[in-house]
Amino acid sequence: MSRIVYVNGEYLPEDAAKISVFDRGFLFADAIYEVTSVLDGKLLDFEGHMRRLHRSLGELEMEAPCEDAALEAIHRELMVRNALSEGLIYLQVTRGAADRDFLYPEGVAPSLVMFTQAKGLRVSPAAERGTKVVSIPDQRWARRDIKTVQLLPSAMGKMAAKKAGADDAWMIEDGFVTEGTSNNAYIVTKDGTIVTRDLSNAILHGITRASVLTFAREAQMKVEERAFTLEEAKGAAEAFFTSASSFVMPVVEIDGQPIGAGVPGPVATRLREIYIAEALARAS
Ligand code: PMP
Repeated sequence: MSRIVYVNGEYLPEDAAKISVFDRGFLFADAIYEVTSVLDGKLLDFEGHMRRLHRSLGELEMEAPCEDAALEAIHRELMVRNALSEGLIYLQVTRGAADRDFLYPEGVAPSLVMFTQAKGLRVSPAAERGTKVVSIPDQRWARRDIKTVQLLPSAMGKMAAKKAGADDAWMIEDGFVTEGTSNNAYIVTKDGTIVTRDLSNAILHGITRASVLTFAREAQMKVEERAFTLEEAKGAAEAFFTSASSFVMPVVEIDGQPIGAGVPGPVATRLREIYIAEALARAS
């Protein structure tokens, strides 16, 4: 099954799509990305993803490849051409192709690549049984708020988790959890408060995080945005993580230690239902 992907103005079979060997995304990881989920043929949290895309572009002094309306149209065209009703759409902007030099080139057009990934998101065996995470040192750079394609530390973390028989890893810095390798981390305290790290350059500003916190507050749930330690997480009533590809995902074990009752907790389970219903209601 060959997909139709988008590369710099063209819709092409995936085997025919090409990027220059001089592309700075390839040579310097000089590129940013977004992943938007598709459910029932609708784009979830699309405005949030566009907002963060512009923030990443701005922080790196990178030009936008086109207007937001054109980006939205490409998302929708890829959904149609690939008959995608549930899954993900990946978007990557690189600074473009130029002879290898650390300095940003002038007058070079950015590259835009987009593709779809079909994936069941709503029905999730992992969400039903809960996931296991291991803790690892956070070895990433200091600007984790910019969504760049420098993802080797996260790939290494996921491999370490897999080798340990776990599903994912949570990263630790100075004793505190920063975030998951590709998601934001949360705990629920014994008094039912949802705790997740406050926004700074230490973590990616998750779009799912922003929506989940809004919906939780709307549902009168108590939310605290602050750092928490690995020890606090291990003693919490519940733990979970969020991302565009996992929505709200319960964590039932950290470093081999069961969290709460060792099964998906009521807060995470309810938040998953609320997120899916509310994100869909606000999507188009
Ligand atoms: N943190 C990291 C490090 C991530 O890679 C991701 C997903 N790309 C997230 C958090 C979650 O962000 P979002 O909810 O926007 O998918």
